[in-house]
Parts: sequence; C-alpha cells; structure tokens
Amino acid sequence: MDTTGDVAAPDGAHCTGCGSLSCIGCTRTLDPPRFCPQCGRRLTVAVTPGGFRARCRDHGALAPT
Ligand SMILES: [Zn+2]
Ligand SMILES: [Zn+2]
Repeated sequence: MDTTGDVAAPDGAHCTGCGSLSCIGCTRTLDPPRFCPQCGRRLTVAVTPGGFRARCRDHGALAPT
C-alpha cells in the first residue's frame, strides 16, 4: 500500500527560510534562520556581534549553523 499524498518530510522539518514543509531549503549559508525547523513558527532573530541568534517561542534558541 503506497502512502499516496503522504509527503515524507524528514523529521517534519520546516524550511528555516520560509517555514514550508515542502521546501528543501531556500536559505543561503549566511542568512539567519527565520522559521523554526521544528514547528515552522516565525523566529525572533537578534543580531549579535558574532552573527545571528534565532529563538523560537516554543523551542528556545536555535544552535547557529
Ligand atoms: Zn524555504
Ligand atoms: Zn519551534
């Protein structure tokens, strides 16, 4: 039985650039994440001297890649 219509997103990962589940990744390396990969919620992004720090309201701070 095929899982028709069931999109197999790896670990339900959302794109950090647009929050979409179907997007593989539209962010560039130097771009800060804007959406939580776990829930797709918009992140709070703060600029730091070392780069960016993104934080999800539900999942806390994301580790910078
Ligand atoms: Zn995307
Ligand atoms: Zn989250």
